[in-house]
Amino acid sequence: MPDITAPIDESLVAFFRKNLLDWSARNPRPMPWKGERDPYKIWLSEIILQQTRVEQGLPYYQKFVAKYPNVHQLADAPEDEVLKLWEGLGYYTRARNLHAAAKHIAYELEGTFPNNYESIRGLKGVGPYTASAIASFAFGLPHAVLDGNVYRVLARFFGVETLIDTPAAQKHFAALAQNLLNSSDPAAHNQAMMDFGATFCTPQQARCPDCPFQSECCAFLMGKVAELPLKSKGLVKKKRAFYYLVLRHQGDIFVRKRTGKDIWRGLWEFPQLEGPIQVSPFGAEAVRESEPFRQLLTHQAVTAVFFEIDLPDDAPEEIFKNPLFQDCERIAQKMLKKNIAFPKVIDCFLQNNVLTLN
Ligand code: SF4
Repeated sequence: MPDITAPIDESLVAFFRKNLLDWSARNPRPMPWKGERDPYKIWLSEIILQQTRVEQGLPYYQKFVAKYPNVHQLADAPEDEVLKLWEGLGYYTRARNLHAAAKHIAYELEGTFPNNYESIRGLKGVGPYTASAIASFAFGLPHAVLDGNVYRVLARFFGVETLIDTPAAQKHFAALAQNLLNSSDPAAHNQAMMDFGATFCTPQQARCPDCPFQSECCAFLMGKVAELPLKSKGLVKKKRAFYYLVLRHQGDIFVRKRTGKDIWRGLWEFPQLEGPIQVSPFGAEAVRESEPFRQLLTHQAVTAVFFEIDLPDDAPEEIFKNPLFQDCERIAQKMLKKNIAFPKVIDCFLQNNVLTLN
C-alpha cells in the first residue's frame, strides 16, 4: 500500500492534472451554475447539492434563484416560506442554515459575500467541502474539494487501502487532494474532479476500459477497483415508529410545528405519538388506518402510520383540551398541501390519500 503521507511524484501529479482537464474538456457536463461567478448563486447551488443528486437538486436551484435572485430577498423571506420551497429535498437543517447565513450576509455584512476560505467556512451550514467549492468557483482560490467522489477517485488512482472514514485518513486525503490541485485553475480542476467521480469513476460502474488514467491507476492495475475505497461498516439506524392522528373537524385539520432538538425541526405535522399506542377515537365517526410509510434518514429509520379521524361537528369542547391538541393550529383541509412544509413521510401520505384528504 502506498504511503499517502509521502510527497507524490511530480510527474504523476502532472499526468493526473493534464488528463483530468483533458477528460473534462471532452466530457462537458452543462449545469446552470457552471461558469457562474456570483458567489450567492454558487453558494445556493452548493448547499442544495449537499447530500443530493444533481438531477434532484436542479429544479430547487432554479426555484430558489427565481424567487430569491439575491441574498437580500432570501434574508427577508419568512422561514416558513423558505422551508416550503425546500419541501421534498430533505435535510431541512440545510434550509434553516441557508436562511440564517443569508440574514448574516445581508444584515451584518451589508450584502457582501465573504471572499476568503476562512470567512466562507464561517457561514452557517458551510463545511470544508462547500467552502472549498465556493472559494474556488467564485474567487478562483486554491482550495481542493474533497467529497465522496473525490475520495473514491483518489483511493483508486493511488491504491489507498486505509478506511476512508477515519479522522487520520481524512486528513491525509485532504493533503493529497490539495497536492494534486492545479492552482493555475482551481475552479476547473475541482469541477473536473467532481464530474469525473460522479459520472465516470462511479461506485458500481467505473469505466476503466475508456479511462485516461488507466495506465497509472493502482486500483485498475491491482484488480481492486470494486474494493476501493475501503469503508467501515455502515451506520446502525435507530428505528422509530410514529403514529399520526389526522383529526378532521368541520373541514379543518389540526397541525402543529415541530420544535425542540429532534428531527424535522420547523416542519409541520399532525398530532403525533411515538411507540406502541392505543388510538382513542374521541367519539369519532370514522377511523381509517393507513398502510405504513417509511423514510430513511442518515441515522434513523422512521415508520409512520396515519389514523384519519372525523370528529363530529358538535364535538364537545372538552375534546380539544386533550394534550394531543397542544400547540395545534386548525387549517382548512384544502390548504393542507399548499401552504406549509411537511416531512417527506407526511407528503407521501398526502399524495397517496387524495380521495379521503382532498
Ligand atoms: S481506471 Fe477505473 S478505477 Fe482507475 S480512475 Fe479510471 S475509472 Fe477509476
